[in-house]
Amino acid sequence: MQKDDLKSLVTQMYENLLEKIDEQEDANKEQVINYLKDSVNVIATIADDDLDSMAHARAAFTNAYKELTDRSLLSYKNTNTRFEELAQMHEKTISECSMQEIDLSSITQKFNDIQAHMVDEVKKANSVISNLSNQVKILEETTNLDPLTKVYNRRALISYLDEICARDNMHYELHLLMLDIDNFKMINDTHGHVAGDKILMFIANIFRKTVRDGDKVFRYGGEEFVIVLNRLDNQDCEKISNRLLELVRESKLIYKGINLQVTMSIGATIYKQNDTPDAIVSRADKALYLAKTNGKDQMRVEN
Ligand code: GH3
Ligand code: MG
Ligand code: MG
Repeated sequence: MQKDDLKSLVTQMYENLLEKIDEQEDANKEQVINYLKDSVNVIATIADDDLDSMAHARAAFTNAYKELTDRSLLSYKNTNTRFEELAQMHEKTISECSMQEIDLSSITQKFNDIQAHMVDEVKKANSVISNLSNQVKILEETTNLDPLTKVYNRRALISYLDEICARDNMHYELHLLMLDIDNFKMINDTHGHVAGDKILMFIANIFRKTVRDGDKVFRYGGEEFVIVLNRLDNQDCEKISNRLLELVRESKLIYKGINLQVTMSIGATIYKQNDTPDAIVSRADKALYLAKTNGKDQMRVEN
């Protein structure tokens, strides 16, 4: 988001100005004022860009948007604080600047103009963002995607299973895998929640990339996922499960210079005639429990 760049832009502008004043012993009033005018123009353009990008982003909404908004909100907080610091720096610079050729009161006026512009833009942007946050919230409530991992959420799983179980006849085999990261609490406790979140995103990506078209990946909750595999026999289901176990076990996820070692356990079951969503999920859960009690990092089946 452009506003993210605003902070560094303003800092850069400020540093450029200092450089100009420092380097040019005979810096004249016009040079400085022109520079400030340019700066005001730059700031005014940012506002337009920001609105453009909002319209664009709104059109291309994905759940990644929430992250973006959260980050922007955070950066705004910093930016606001930064503006205050900048204002103080401006004042200090002016008071230290004793060159005859420069009209201090005019510079002060220009600085104040810039300052007012910035505050104005931040206010506008804040209202854009709060608007956006509300829209994101509404969209999230109606979406089927999990915001963190971008795979389907639990609501989507339930309606998918409802649909499957409502079919009179299944003409092909369907497996359900329940996958649960091993010792995730300890990983969170050791490396922090952010590292935990990164693992969830990373693992969801492995799932997405590994399953075939038509298979579906869901985040069931916390560190638990469900994968529904279509048109596979038991042997192939076991093969895919072992492949997933291996990919996660051997993945190289580096966070803050540390290689995060992760494993998971899988409980698998096959769809049976007259199954209900609850029945199929609880069989997979039972299989998962067996995998956990049997030492984790493995797959167990319950039929
Ligand atoms: P086990 O091997 O038996 O599965 O143990 P575990 O530690 O993985 O399981 P437990 O249920 O004890 O802990 C799950 C942890 O997952 C606790 C919770 O803080 C964490 N968790 C749940 N959702 C999230 C999330 O969205 N992000 C992060 N970082 N952690 C989460
Ligand atoms: Mg769990
Ligand atoms: Mg777990």
